Amino acid sequence: MSRIPQQQIPGIYHRRVGDILVTALSDGHLDGGLDVLRQISEAEARQILTERFRPARRTPVNAFLVYSSGRLALIETGSGNYLAPTAGKLMANLKAAGVDPADIEAVLLTHMHPDHSAGLTDMTTARRNYANAELVMHENEPRHWFDDAKMAAATERAKKLYFQAGREQVLPYKDRWRLFNRGEVFPGVTAIPRPGHTPGHTTFLISSGKEQLLIWGDTVHVPEVQTARPEVCMEFDTDAAAAAASRRQVFDMVATDRLAISGMHLHFPGFAHLARRGAAYELIPEAWEQAL
Ligand SMILES: [Zn+2]
Repeated sequence: MSRIPQQQIPGIYHRRVGDILVTALSDGHLDGGLDVLRQISEAEARQILTERFRPARRTPVNAFLVYSSGRLALIETGSGNYLAPTAGKLMANLKAAGVDPADIEAVLLTHMHPDHSAGLTDMTTARRNYANAELVMHENEPRHWFDDAKMAAATERAKKLYFQAGREQVLPYKDRWRLFNRGEVFPGVTAIPRPGHTPGHTTFLISSGKEQLLIWGDTVHVPEVQTARPEVCMEFDTDAAAAAASRRQVFDMVATDRLAISGMHLHFPGFAHLARRGAAYELIPEAWEQAL
């Protein structure tokens, strides 16, 4: 008799962008309520999800390897063991992808939030999970999250989960930070800041030859709701109005330019296009590609 599988398959998917190979890796997902949404009632958000066959809010968490010019970078590190048992799977998926974390030369962060930066350091040993990597992020991120006055003014939850977690995770990399403002930060990877969700929230445009892919970071957290209603923000946006403005700019750009995208909170593997639908948008997932 056949044994029934006890585990999901590894979350790994490769996609070419010209000469660059991008590998989407799943960290898992975070399920939660709709009370964290802003600019929309819970009833309206629930209706949008129900119409799209989603019983509840599910926020996937993704990271991406970038193989470019013989070098290897990792965009984001997942959530470590800070958030939920359904997440924190990045290390296992890296291993399943055959990648030794010691071979990663650069870790690029879209921002310092626990579902992105909390996999940087193993807190049981205080050792870097990516022993040889430099840490590459927008200059406004450490500036904001290491600001004691801002931390003092934050809610208890934000103090612990954002300021404290962020600090303890990035500090072991302090002698190997590379802070940017914008521009090319890794071969073929250009940082385009889209502040609001956090002060240094950044998208990464991957370009090779005629091909491009925008990894849009946290442009959305609940893709079904925020493509239908781009004004919808999250409780944990540092500046909600700026986050909504950034989202509209990114949406407009990728829809107009027919630019391929992926993101940290799109359903795995997250490669998609965004189509304009009147005042709203629709995500169209890319077809599976067998050839590399
Ligand atoms: Zn996030």
